[in-house]
Amino acid sequence: MNSNKKQIIIAGPCTFGSYEELYHIAELLKQKGIEYFRAGTFKMRTNPNSFQGLRDEGMEMLLKIKKELNLKIVTELTSIEQVRKYGNKIDIIQIGTRNMYNYELLKEVGKTKTTVMLKRAFSATYDEWLQAAEYIKKGGNTSIILCERGVRNFISGDTRNILDLQTVPYMKKNTNYPIFVDPSHASGLAYMVEPMSKAALVAGADGLLIEVHNEPEKSLCDAKQTIDMETIDRILEFQKIFNNIDK
Ligand code: PEP
Ligand code: MN
Repeated sequence: MNSNKKQIIIAGPCTFGSYEELYHIAELLKQKGIEYFRAGTFKMRTNPNSFQGLRDEGMEMLLKIKKELNLKIVTELTSIEQVRKYGNKIDIIQIGTRNMYNYELLKEVGKTKTTVMLKRAFSATYDEWLQAAEYIKKGGNTSIILCERGVRNFISGDTRNILDLQTVPYMKKNTNYPIFVDPSHASGLAYMVEPMSKAALVAGADGLLIEVHNEPEKSLCDAKQTIDMETIDRILEFQKIFNNIDK
């Protein structure tokens, strides 16, 4: 039987430095059929001296893109104030790995009507992750996506984290949440994003979150893990073929 299920591919740059850069990438991705565009404007950087995102100015740009290109906007919100200001204006609120344990923030997104993509903390057990989701649910918001983005480990070589693909069958069996995979932050290396994206689809992921830029080397953040337009084309092609296989 052909599966009619279509996984959601969320794609876009880690962050951006201008409206022109943002618009260009968004337009290219839209032409490929991407409906969910993700770009960060409130960045959670390990180093306080790194670019922190365009912040409120960037949010205005994202909302303009939403209107002009009719794309669904996914972006990370990092404070209660941001959630109050923008939570109901975007399509998916991303909660980043560092904030999975920020219970006051989770309570606040739980009060919105917007889908929340809850990234797994890089040190979280499945149980801790699911309890974080409960915080959101308790506020009344049941539209929650889990996103596996790699965990800390001791055998990572030059990779950033290790992709725990077992989360996919586990969450499918034990929960009703959609489970997405972010191969970009899991590996931290662009050449791994295509094979790991395919592996995630085969494992049964409901969606992917991928960092893409037309000129990856010029990315203001996470350049090493950002794929180019040709690579996202191949992933989308694989998705099409995979969905047409009799399973
Ligand atoms: C991101 O998606 O750009 C990001 C910062 O992700 P994470 O919170 O998983 O590190
Ligand atoms: Mn990133």
